[in-house]
Amino acid sequence: MRMVLMGPPGAGKGTQAAAICRRYGVAHISTGDMFRAAMASGSQVGAKAKAYVDRGELVPDDVTIGIVRERLSQPDATNGFVLDGFPRTVPQALGLDELLAGSGLKLDAVVLIEVPEAELVRRAVGRRVCPRCNRVWHLEFNPPPEPGTCSCGGELTLRPDDTAETVRARLAVYRERTEALKDYYAKAGILRVVDGSGSPQEVEALIAGALERCSE
Ligand code: AMP
Repeated sequence: MRMVLMGPPGAGKGTQAAAICRRYGVAHISTGDMFRAAMASGSQVGAKAKAYVDRGELVPDDVTIGIVRERLSQPDATNGFVLDGFPRTVPQALGLDELLAGSGLKLDAVVLIEVPEAELVRRAVGRRVCPRCNRVWHLEFNPPPEPGTCSCGGELTLRPDDTAETVRARLAVYRERTEALKDYYAKAGILRVVDGSGSPQEVEALIAGALERCSE
């Protein structure tokens, strides 16, 4: 299984990508997680990405395609992968097709999770992440066992780009840059759109159904 999970910020891509990876035993590749890790480690890529990530803007395509190229060459990705948050622009999608074609591969499916905008803001601002194990909680929909603390004991944090103002900026970027990808993948005949407004379990079942239809 080689697939892309698309959707606006707050659509539940991270949660659903983790579930699909467990189901199919493939690698979870999140460019957002990779940028956050690069920033935390103070690497060169992290330094290049920081100003963009902090403002909720897209990191330039060449930097982003570069980290994905490197990640896809790692052994665990040869079994398959779920790309979460990449591609986000048409040039990134073209870059991905080129990378895969270089190894004689192509995408099996692109799943787009759609959620109304007001709901997206509500979801993002309540999100809390564990910097230790990367687990994602939500104050309202999926509260941690103890307030402020992950089940692994880590102290939960609000991502700096999950404030209401930055979320709105990220949604604008999504509308302007990423929505065009819908047409790109629809034309390729691999796009599946699912309604992401239900519970994580409901959305997981819709995605599983959409992926089964792809492999028929
Ligand atoms: P995410 O966790 O997917 O919401 O990503 C967090 C931030 O990382 C985004 O707001 C961007 O600044 C950056 N980022 C993640 N993926 C990409 C991408 N494919 N292209 C450009 N920037 C990205």
